[in-house]
Parts: sequence; C-alpha cells; structure tokens
Amino acid sequence: MKKSKIVKNKKPAAAQKSTKKLTSPPGKGQRGGSAEAGTDPARVAAILAGLDAMYPDAVCELTHANPFQLLISTILSAQCTDVRVNQVTAELYKKYKTPEDFAYATPSELEQEIRPTGFFRNKTKSVMGASQAIVEKFGGVVPRTMEEILTLPGVARKTGNVVLGSGYGIAVGVVVDTHVIRLSNRLDLTHNTDPKKIEQDLIKILPQSKWIQFSHQLIWHGRRICVARKPRCIECKLEQLCYAKDKTV
Ligand code: SF4
Repeated sequence: MKKSKIVKNKKPAAAQKSTKKLTSPPGKGQRGGSAEAGTDPARVAAILAGLDAMYPDAVCELTHANPFQLLISTILSAQCTDVRVNQVTAELYKKYKTPEDFAYATPSELEQEIRPTGFFRNKTKSVMGASQAIVEKFGGVVPRTMEEILTLPGVARKTGNVVLGSGYGIAVGVVVDTHVIRLSNRLDLTHNTDPKKIEQDLIKILPQSKWIQFSHQLIWHGRRICVARKPRCIECKLEQLCYAKDKTV
C-alpha cells in the first residue's frame, strides 16, 4: 500500500498565517543565487530581534585583555575550541606579556606551550611572525585597519574582523566562521558557502551597527541551540522565521 507522504516542518495554519510574510521561502526557481535569499528587510529585522531576545549580551568568548592578546588567541583558535584556547592562554599570557615577548620567543618552547591547541608548529610561526611584524612595522601596536592587519603573517579576513570588531570596536565586516556559515544558510540569509561571499551577502542586508554583535549572536546560537547535528529547534526563538531543511520541529 502506498504510504502517504509526511510533510516535515509544516506549520499550524495559524502560525503560517501570522508569519506568512516573514517565513515564506523564495518561490520555486529563485534559489541558487544569493540575491534571492530570504532577505526581506522585515524578515531580517525579525531575525535580529529574535537574536537580541536570546543573546542580548553575546560577546567574543576568547579571553583577552587587549587587542594583541585577542589576535594571538584568535590565531590559536583555528581548528580548536575557545575553551581549550582559554586554558592555554591563561598560562601563556603570564609568561609572554608583550608583542616583543612573542616576537623573539624560543620557537621550540612556544610550540610546546601552545601544543594543546593543535597545529602547534604552524601556529608558532604565525604567532611569532605576526608579533615580529607588529613590533617592527607597527610600533608594537596591532594595526587598526583591515588592509594593514591582513599584512600580518597567518592573519586572514576572519581574524582581522575578530580583532578589529571585538578588540577595537571597529566594524569593517562580519566575522564568518563555521557557525556563521551554517546558520546564515539555515536562516536563508545567503546561498553561498564561501566565507568571503557570505560576508558580502551579510554586509548588504545588515545595518553596520549590527555587524559585530550579529556574528557573536550567531556563534552563540550555533554553539548552544542551532548545533550542526540535530539543532534544538524547540528551544529556538527564530523557529517561526526558519524554514531550514534540517529543522527538527
Ligand atoms: S529553528 Fe532550528 S534550524 Fe532554524 S535557526 Fe532555530 S535552531 Fe536553527
């Protein structure tokens, strides 16, 4: 006997009616290009309001006392959890207090000290290279522009956005990490997977005043509720706005 097809994620009629404008996915044939993502300004505003309600105090979870420490912690956070990085830097920053300390460290010692964060040989090169450039080219101060910060060895745009945004409060872009990639696609704010393209898509639809906070909130949401496998949609304040294929309610 032919089984009737189960339609997943169908909302109750009342919910569909009350949120129709904001929750309707783009029509057939519209998907596949970033311009047609679910980026209606009212829908984006509702997503921002939902994130504000869930995470009013979202901040960078890497422990740091200044922009330089944030730069080092961000380099160490590649392929590693913030919790592990914070454990390592709690000791590291007691020994290495200035950019000079890192710039002229003994590589074999530093390698062992940051070993728990993984990829410790490459990270040692990046940490020392960036520190040397800061000492020798920027007077010992982390530069405050994306153009300059991208000249530091081992520093790409994501790190630049973290340091400029959370270290200096300068919004030149949006941090796009693995959580932001996953969630901005689930929320249909982009159809891209390349971080640079996602950042451009987000910059177009978000007010600049939200660029820094939005990425913190999405990262917090991705860690706590909208996790990669089996997101906990029942706890999510964006559920009425979300039509992700892998929703669990
Ligand atoms: S409803 Fe589920 S998939 Fe959609 S944003 Fe919330 S947790 Fe993520």
